[in-house]
Amino acid sequence: MARKVIIAGNWKMNLLPLQGEELVSELKERIESKENLEVVIFPQTGLLPLAIDWTIDSAIQLGAQNASSALSGAYTGETSADLLKTLGCSYCLAGHSERRSLYGETDEIVGQKAETYLSMGITPVICVGESLAERESGKFLSVIENQVKIVFDQISKEGWPKLVWAYEPVWAIGTGKTATADQANEVHQFIRRQIQNLAGDIVANATSILYGGSAKPSNAADLLAQTDIDGLLVGGASLKADDFVDIIAAF
Ligand code: PEP
Repeated sequence: MARKVIIAGNWKMNLLPLQGEELVSELKERIESKENLEVVIFPQTGLLPLAIDWTIDSAIQLGAQNASSALSGAYTGETSADLLKTLGCSYCLAGHSERRSLYGETDEIVGQKAETYLSMGITPVICVGESLAERESGKFLSVIENQVKIVFDQISKEGWPKLVWAYEPVWAIGTGKTATADQANEVHQFIRRQIQNLAGDIVANATSILYGGSAKPSNAADLLAQTDIDGLLVGGASLKADDFVDIIAAF
């Protein structure tokens, strides 16, 4: 069975209500629905109650950028996965490199968040990736192996088939530098082999692994043509309707 292809737009801390609404209305007009393709937008949390109305009756799915690993309670400033589910989110990111570097999220926390999301019926999109120094030292595969293993250890077995992974080399995020299609596919194959070792063939073959890091219209087709790249997590280019539509059309 073909794996689901996901083109996801991480809006980060950008766009106010009018801009978000305008962008979604353009996307709704211009995106062609295709079998096996899921388009997901990840607006900032405060936009989610509006975004559910913008996306209603469309094929665009809604995701959140972050939620707490705790279910509820005295966690000032946090957002619960339960609330995200109520607001209509099907997906939530975990372990984005900005959360890791700016907010100290460890692999253990990332795994705990993923487990909480799953308990609320939300699909975690788990981001892993190496820094420039780790890439240049040649140790990048062992860095990724470690990230995947620790995250997996926090998640119960029933959750394994429901995970979506995103390989996002930190040196390619927001820098304009993209991993080549071969570089990305090498890591995707490596992650899939690791999933195979940890969770078995069936789970590994059915798991979507997205690439993220300066994906844009000019490189999307090449990345998506790779055997083990099952979609893209797009930051900057998802804020421009023309670019995001062209990236989707590249599938
Ligand atoms: C991201 O933030 O997940 C991302 C991939 O950003 P960009 O596409 O801007 O590199």
